[in-house]
Amino acid sequence: MIAKRWGEIQSCVATAREGAPLAAASVTVVAACKGQTEAALDEALTLGVTDFGENRVQEAERHWATRRARLHFIGALQSNKAEEAVALFDYIHSLDRESLCDALARAMEKQGRRVGCFIQVNTGEEPQKSGVLPGVLPSLLAYARKLELPVVGLMCVPPAEALKASHFAFLHLLAREHGLQGLSMGMSDDYPLAIRFGATHVRIGTALFGPR
Ligand SMILES: *Cc1c(COP(=O)(O)O)cnc(C)c1O
Repeated sequence: MIAKRWGEIQSCVATAREGAPLAAASVTVVAACKGQTEAALDEALTLGVTDFGENRVQEAERHWATRRARLHFIGALQSNKAEEAVALFDYIHSLDRESLCDALARAMEKQGRRVGCFIQVNTGEEPQKSGVLPGVLPSLLAYARKLELPVVGLMCVPPAEALKASHFAFLHLLAREHGLQGLSMGMSDDYPLAIRFGATHVRIGTALFGPR
């Protein structure tokens, strides 16, 4: 089943890029693997999936104790998990506050390791959701850059009911405005649309692994 779905995803990615002037030069599919079995991870690895997204540090440490892949942290990150996150992950997609910038900068310095960061933007300005408010993005970005954090792009999770295109277009605009190349946006339900608006990283769980 995973094999068939992986094939479908690859062809959807290719189709979405066709004739899309905003589409990025390359799109990385990040397999969101929270709650997946070891067998599912192994199957995805066998199929050639190179990038995996994790929501919890502890679960990730278990998943990747012996396996190897490029790892993306996509969940909400507590500052007290920054050291473990820097040690394990290649990218963090959920940088959203100054205290986390401090913790990540300290951990990177200590470990001599640079982990690319996406700043998560709460484009829908939803009170319960992670992410920096769009109006606060410039100051958070300046703060991260002052600490020499390698900020590589922006990330968003639009509200479920939203007109997704407007959120993706908005995030694209914000990234260009701030000279950032990376755009982590689009999930199982909407990744073809996100790609048409320039996503460089789509985070796909259900469409690859099936319902959780
Ligand atoms: C789980 C998760 C995804 C993948 O969600 P699907 O709808 O299953 O594709 C993407 N991004 C984040 C932040 C997630 O937690």
